[in-house]
Amino acid sequence: MAQELAVLIVEDSEDDALLITRELRRSGFDPLMRRVDTADAMRAALAERAWDLVLADYRMPRFSGPLALEALRESGLDIPFILVSATVGEEAAVAMMKAGAHDFVLKHSLGRLGAAVARELRDAEVRRRRRWADAALEILAEAGKLVVESAQLDVIQRRAATICVPRLADWCVLYYAHDRGSITDVTAVACRPEIDEASVLELATRYPPKIGADDPLFGNALLTHAPQLMATIGDPDLARIARDERHLQLLRALEPRSLMIIPQVARGGVIGLLVLAAQRRRYTEADLGVASELGRRVELVAENARLSRSREEFISTAIHEIKTPISVIKMSVQLMQQLDPAQRDARMPDLFERLDRQCNRLERLVTEVLEVSRLDLKRLTLSRRPIDLGALVERIVGEMRDVSSRHRFVVLRNDAIMLDADPDRIEQVLTNLLSNAIKYSPTGGDVEIESRRERNEALVSVRDHGIGIPLDRQGRIFERFYRAHVGTPYEHTSSLGVGLYLSHEFIARHGGRMWFESKEGVGSTFGFSLPLAPKDGE
Ligand code: ADP
Repeated sequence: MAQELAVLIVEDSEDDALLITRELRRSGFDPLMRRVDTADAMRAALAERAWDLVLADYRMPRFSGPLALEALRESGLDIPFILVSATVGEEAAVAMMKAGAHDFVLKHSLGRLGAAVARELRDAEVRRRRRWADAALEILAEAGKLVVESAQLDVIQRRAATICVPRLADWCVLYYAHDRGSITDVTAVACRPEIDEASVLELATRYPPKIGADDPLFGNALLTHAPQLMATIGDPDLARIARDERHLQLLRALEPRSLMIIPQVARGGVIGLLVLAAQRRRYTEADLGVASELGRRVELVAENARLSRSREEFISTAIHEIKTPISVIKMSVQLMQQLDPAQRDARMPDLFERLDRQCNRLERLVTEVLEVSRLDLKRLTLSRRPIDLGALVERIVGEMRDVSSRHRFVVLRNDAIMLDADPDRIEQVLTNLLSNAIKYSPTGGDVEIESRRERNEALVSVRDHGIGIPLDRQGRIFERFYRAHVGTPYEHTSSLGVGLYLSHEFIARHGGRMWFESKEGVGSTFGFSLPLAPKDGE
């Protein structure tokens, strides 16, 4: 197949330009040719699209070979420049070669043109690759530094965008999904100084990625989570991408002729998108590789930042939570000391009960904090022994009845099941599910408990008729520190976001599974399975 070749011919004679094109075709190229014969037309053509080759006549009525070479140099583009002239003296030719022309071919021996073009294209490719390798190394070295930086996330994100320009892109945009938002927050834009940054920002903020498959630009990246390469983009593509007139206007002004869209993926979802645009070059798979590497670094930094932010929040909430029972305990003790003997008999049982409740709450909190850190350090171990699951369910449900009088606990089924498990952990899981059922059904109602044996498993579920979980927040429910109702009227003050995470871990370590079903405004069912103890299963 003929090699495609975008050729800018600087030539006043249409006939000569046709002869040159015919010669190129004969040498196995498929030339896409544009003829210019003034400096302005040449500059406009260079700015408009990418060219593989410039062929220039020496003498023209309104232009000349040396001036054409000058215009190419001014553009900063590295495109092979070959002088093709009928009359060029040796001296002039040497002067042009010194000034940077790559070769010259006389019009009466055009037969040489094909070989000269092939060689110059090869050399240009070698130069391009070398330049690319240098730039790629620089980008990756700087991207590596991002990960060890201790700066704020947004500072690092801005730096990541800056790293790309101009080495990898003429302009770029980094989108990031903050904890509660979707992937529409523009975190950073960067562009070459000649490009209007306000337009890039307007394009990015006014036309952000749309969730759903009907977005021709970002849809694929969001859907597949894989880096996307749009190597050549023409005006019809821009028209297809544009959502309205202004969008098209901005796209045309910023002329992305080649695009890469790199999603950053964490926790099963896209948390960021890096968009890189080139105006005059065509991105390749190799560019995509470098951009993806950079994307991965940004992803890592963002995830680390998120985790350390959640951890800080967790610690401060935990401390706050721990302080509350401590002050209740202190107050109760002071009250006990101040009671005169006549009141004692009447008030003491109440105060002791309050003390007991707060001590339990304190113990639960401290245990949770401790277990999170144990899991962090991978030091959590199970102490398995035979347990009677039916009795455990009965006891814990009984205790819960004392906690809330607004809820009715209904045990729908409680099979006699013996398990080989860590009783403290299983108790923790059950208590967590039951207290969530209470916490997240603030107006009360029934809480239904079922524990049954099915094949070689025990299946336990807790169902409430409470507020449920919004659909878009369900995917992260077992994540550490995740609280699904933050920012809603149901945000619970005494919520650490670790109960379900710990429960999920405990059950997994027993070889079981955990699941849930929930509908906003209707209620939730959380359940878990545990493999039966071998003895019991026989
Ligand atoms: P916490 O309740 O301390 O925040 P969990 O890990 O137990 O921690 O729960 C995580 C989040 O899941 C809660 O913040 C809440 O938004 C949601 N959630 C848990 N259980 C229920 C439930 N039964 N109904 C509605 N939402 C729930």
